Amino acid sequence: MTEPYWLAEPAEPPTALRLEGRPDVAVIGAGVTGSACALALGEGGLRVRVHEARQIASGASGRSGGFALRGAAMPYDDARKRLGADKAASLWLLTERYLDRLEVLAGDALRRCGSLRLADGKEEREKLWAEYAALREDGFAVEWVERLEPPLDELFRGGIRHPCDGALQPARWARRLAACAVAAGAEIVEESRVESLDTLDADAVVIATDGYTSGLLPALDDAVRSVRGQMIATEPLGRRVFDCPHYSRWGFDYWQQIPEGRLVLGGRRDARLEEEYTTEEGVTEPIQQELEALAERLLGERPRVSHRWSGIFGATEDRLPLAGPIPGRDGLWVAAGYSGHGNVLGLACGELVAGAILGRPPPELALFDPARVL
Ligand SMILES: Cc1cc2nc3c(=O)[nH]c(=O)nc-3n(C[C@H](O)[C@H](O)[C@H](O)COP(=O)(O)OP(=O)(O)OC[C@H]3O[C@@H](n4cnc5c(N)ncnc54)[C@H](O)[C@@H]3O)c2cc1C
Repeated sequence: MTEPYWLAEPAEPPTALRLEGRPDVAVIGAGVTGSACALALGEGGLRVRVHEARQIASGASGRSGGFALRGAAMPYDDARKRLGADKAASLWLLTERYLDRLEVLAGDALRRCGSLRLADGKEEREKLWAEYAALREDGFAVEWVERLEPPLDELFRGGIRHPCDGALQPARWARRLAACAVAAGAEIVEESRVESLDTLDADAVVIATDGYTSGLLPALDDAVRSVRGQMIATEPLGRRVFDCPHYSRWGFDYWQQIPEGRLVLGGRRDARLEEEYTTEEGVTEPIQQELEALAERLLGERPRVSHRWSGIFGATEDRLPLAGPIPGRDGLWVAAGYSGHGNVLGLACGELVAGAILGRPPPELALFDPARVL
């Protein structure tokens, strides 16, 4: 029962493309980041080998809530304060661009239905209003929703609709992206855990392991904290209740109703915050009970749960990813630490790092420079 609903979908076996000899670039991890990086490097004419400890999409990319959101893990108004107006705007524009790119690549793994961020109380409502005002001021598409539809009207105090966002079947998306990378000439080797960087012979190495900190580089493991997110999927509800991804309580609660009618719901890790800083990919009774109670609150009755699972994501102190060269380590790169917001940023950072390796460093890469912590 702990297999993610998403990964249970039958998948085509990955094409068995084999590279002869030494690759130009070795990528560690075949989630969205590693595959995005491999795709761009392959298209750029380099020989790429991806090492994946388990299977394609077996990490967070196949286990997530499936929200494809613009922006980063912090609200836009906070980003403006912390990064300055120009950098915040360029980060948000980058992710809007990558949502469009994702739509081109993902096919039916993405529904571009927008997302709804809900205010659970007065404090969150004020905070959401501040974010809404900042986004509007800087010309981003956003809508304030005062009158929520039932059952949300009884439970929440307004919210923000982000019309450009979307909902993913994340495993389908990550597998499709991996297939694109293979079609571009990359080799993906599954069941190939990299135990030490010294075992890799390539001009460049990219670490794309997000929260599955791997012991490969102690400084990186210190900078990226592993966080567990737990999820449930219900049996089909038999009625349509939610038309797009919804999230609330500062992102601690999130759910989407998928086309098959199931509610896929996650979060509540604040109920056991310290316990959920872990690399253990398991589910726990207290959080699972919390998730079922949340589903009951949203639906007015307790649904039947068909799947329970968890995944690990990587969190950084400033909630921005680390993407770029590792200081003092020639040819070693990282793209990780999306702080729970990696579905779009993973695609972006994988490609940005590839651009730099190909000798065309995109200006946005500076936003994520690992030198700020490593
Ligand atoms: C429960 C949950 C819900 C989430 N919900 C959302 C959401 O709704 N929206 C959003 O934007 N983000 C969400 N995230 C975050 C998002 O899923 C991740 O940030 C994103 O998938 C990271 O992709 P990645 O390719 O960088 O890492 P991963 O998909 O985790 O891939 C890393 C891969 O590296 C492999 N690996 C690790 N060590 C080694 C090694 N030594 N050798 C070889 N391979 C190795 C792992 O097996 C893994 O497959 C969620 C995360 C979780 C856990």
